[in-house]
Amino acid sequence: MIPVHEAWHAILAHAGSTETVRLPLGKALGRILRTAARADADSPPFDVSAMDGYALRRADITQALRVTGTAQAGAAFTGPLRPGECIRILTGAPVPAGADCIVKQEDITREGDSIRVRRPDGPDYIRRRGENRRRGDIVVPAGTRLGPPELAALASAGIHQPEVARTPRCAHLVTGNELVAPDQTPIGAQIRDSNSTLIATLLARGGIELVAQVGLRDELAAGQAAAAALPAHDVLFISGGASVGDLDFARPLLEALGYTLHFHELNLRPGKPLVFASRGAQLAFVLPGNPVSHWVVFQLFLAPLLEHLQTGAAAAPARLTGRLAGGRLPPPDNRQTFWPCRAVIAGGGYEVTPLPLASSGDSSGLVGANALLPVPTPPGSLLSGQAVEFILCP
Ligand code: AMP
Ligand code: MG
Repeated sequence: MIPVHEAWHAILAHAGSTETVRLPLGKALGRILRTAARADADSPPFDVSAMDGYALRRADITQALRVTGTAQAGAAFTGPLRPGECIRILTGAPVPAGADCIVKQEDITREGDSIRVRRPDGPDYIRRRGENRRRGDIVVPAGTRLGPPELAALASAGIHQPEVARTPRCAHLVTGNELVAPDQTPIGAQIRDSNSTLIATLLARGGIELVAQVGLRDELAAGQAAAAALPAHDVLFISGGASVGDLDFARPLLEALGYTLHFHELNLRPGKPLVFASRGAQLAFVLPGNPVSHWVVFQLFLAPLLEHLQTGAAAAPARLTGRLAGGRLPPPDNRQTFWPCRAVIAGGGYEVTPLPLASSGDSSGLVGANALLPVPTPPGSLLSGQAVEFILCP
């Protein structure tokens, strides 16, 4: 049995990174930027008016001034600005040569072509060339996850096809003679397959591609045939069949497929029989079939791995601090326990409530789960109201 942190290191030791691809801005939401984006010009590119008003020389501000032209966003005033003159100017317009101040229109009185400034002591209302960013400055650093503000910054820098990490591709083989689809009524010893939905939606929420999801009978030959037909993938998940029961063929299947096994037993509850293997750059996991084990193992290992493949960051899940609320803690166990919880913000901090799971097979018991609580041994040492570290799960 290896401890959780060793399992994480073993996974990292075999994980590479996906290649870099160029995507149009409209398809790059949520991707990791691989190449720092630099400004291709000063921003603003010229001195620009911050107000609707009049451009003039501050030295003339106490005189009556004649309006001799107009400057608009997208249409500069190109003529000369002589003493005693001013230019009608709108927000976003280039400041005409010779003008050193914009007076907003609320601060002037106008009669015909003549204005007078009522408040001569106002600010300049000029956004200076390059005050946001200089040409060559980094606009979005490499490694940033691209949200709407970052994509807008790339757009303004003219980077319309940013270089981003390719999303990892996952394939999922779902084993179990007992499984029927959610739209079927189980007969006899059958149960409904909930893990397919769990994994598909966990991946979808992380923006990860699921290239195939195939249900299988518990037979090595069926597994080999299904694996041979899978499209290209970076990570293979096999649900169920991780242990050493008569029908647990997942490990022999991985070996038959040419994978090298790295671990198959963790000091972890739930999730002890997790299997990790690799074949070149491809990684494979056998997830213990219990739905709660699936969720825990995904949050502890798979979500950080899928992030790592894109970012290269070697981050185990971050730990936050909260307060333990009521709720039932699991019975004592020697294994390192990560218990599904509900974390909510209450009274300015997180309140963490352990979910009352009947067992790791209790799939509806996961409802509301959004956190994992590492439970010290023995669990009796945790008291309600006590400060605890926990992992917030997406
Ligand atoms: P296994 O790891 O295959 O021994 O399965 C452990 C437990 O999880 C058994 O009770 C299975 O019936 C259950 N199980 C396996 N696969 C699924 C699934 N896809 N959906 C729901 N329960 C499952
Ligand atoms: Mg099974």
